[in-house]
Formats: sequence, structure tokens, C-alpha cells
Amino acid sequence: MQKICKTAIFDFQEKDQDLIDELSKFLDENAKIALDFFEIEMPKDKVQINIIPSKEEFDNVFKSSRSLSKDYQVPSWLRGTCRDGVITYLSIHGYNGTTHAFDEKDYEKAIEDYKKTILHEYVHFINENFNKQKNCSYTERYLVEGIATYLSGQKEGQNLQLTASKEKILNPRNYYYNDYYLLTKYLVENYDKPFVLELFQSSRMARDFLTNELYDKAQGHSNKTPENSI
Ligand SMILES: [Zn+2]
Repeated sequence: MQKICKTAIFDFQEKDQDLIDELSKFLDENAKIALDFFEIEMPKDKVQINIIPSKEEFDNVFKSSRSLSKDYQVPSWLRGTCRDGVITYLSIHGYNGTTHAFDEKDYEKAIEDYKKTILHEYVHFINENFNKQKNCSYTERYLVEGIATYLSGQKEGQNLQLTASKEKILNPRNYYYNDYYLLTKYLVENYDKPFVLELFQSSRMARDFLTNELYDKAQGHSNKTPENSI
């Protein structure tokens, strides 16, 4: 089945019809958050969003699209990816057996999370378009994941601290979402926008800046939260 809205083309199966209107409306209403941050217009080609019914199928799509071997272990928490204008997104009805499985009583909360996560993937899509327009091939991972987590509001209200070292954060084999979030939040809230967008276009600058300044400043800041000073 297919639904086309202002921002996206959704392809999905019948059992996902119950949430498709809510999901597309949420994306249409919040796409501006991503566009405003990257200071670009809505891309002419809408994002293609494929909702995959089960985690097994999601993992198979993930592996074949990246030419990974059948034995490759896709992390159990992975439920969305964005690449070349296509978002692959695990259905909320396929969370069983993943780290996102939830109790029926928490269904409302799970839907909120489901919506924020599609916005997270959409931020990646806009980041990709921004890079194309700027002729830049790559944004450093901590910024890519940090801005998607920050703009989608996924970590709002959580009391977080930096936990990983600079080296671990800069190693592309790792995933430290809380740390990426804290660093990017500090960057966005304390530095001029042109400078911030410049870092998104230069991996070298982004890595140097993290090593020489951002990490220490963000760490000093998170140690001074009111919760810790009581
Ligand atoms: Zn992401």
C-alpha cells in the first residue's frame, strides 16, 4: 500500500495502515525543524519511506542493501536507516524480540517514540540533501547522529553525562548516541550557526574541534547540571 504526503512517499503493508496517517501528519508538521536547521528548502524529490513488517525482514533488507554476508549480525536495537533518499523503517508491530518491545499499557509512549524516530531518520535525509548541495561527501558521525537525536527530541528531559572517551567517540565502529547528543546539543546552543554548519561539511574540522575544545567544554557543562550540584 502507498501513501503520499507533503514530505514523503510511504510504502507499507496493511497492518501498518492504523498509524500511517498519524506518522505522515507528524512528519509533515515537523519537517521544518530539519529544514530550518540546515537552512535548505524542502527537497523536490520526496523521501521514500519503506515500512518493514518484521525485524527479520528489516535485517535482510539492511544486509542486502549493504552487500553484507548472511551471517552478519545486525544490532537488535537497529530499527531505522536512511541512505540515498530512502528510509527503511521497522514497523512498530514488528518490535517483538527487539530492544524496543513494549508492554501494551505503554502503547501511547511507544507511538510517541515511533514518531520521534521517523523524524530522526528524516533529519538524516535532510543532512544528506544539505551535503549534496554543498558538494560535501560526508558529515562526521557524532554530528550526524547528534543532530538527528537533538532535533527529534528523543533524549529530551533525560539527565545524561558524557561517558565515552574522545577516541571512542571518533571511532566509526562505535555508537554512543547519548554522547553524540550531548556534544551536538552543546555545539548548537553555544556557537554561531555558520560555524556549526561549516563543521557539518568538514570531517577534519569536526574531529579537530571535538578533540581540542568541544568535548572538554561539553563535559564541564554537563558536570554543572543542577541535579549534580545538589
Ligand atoms: Zn541515526
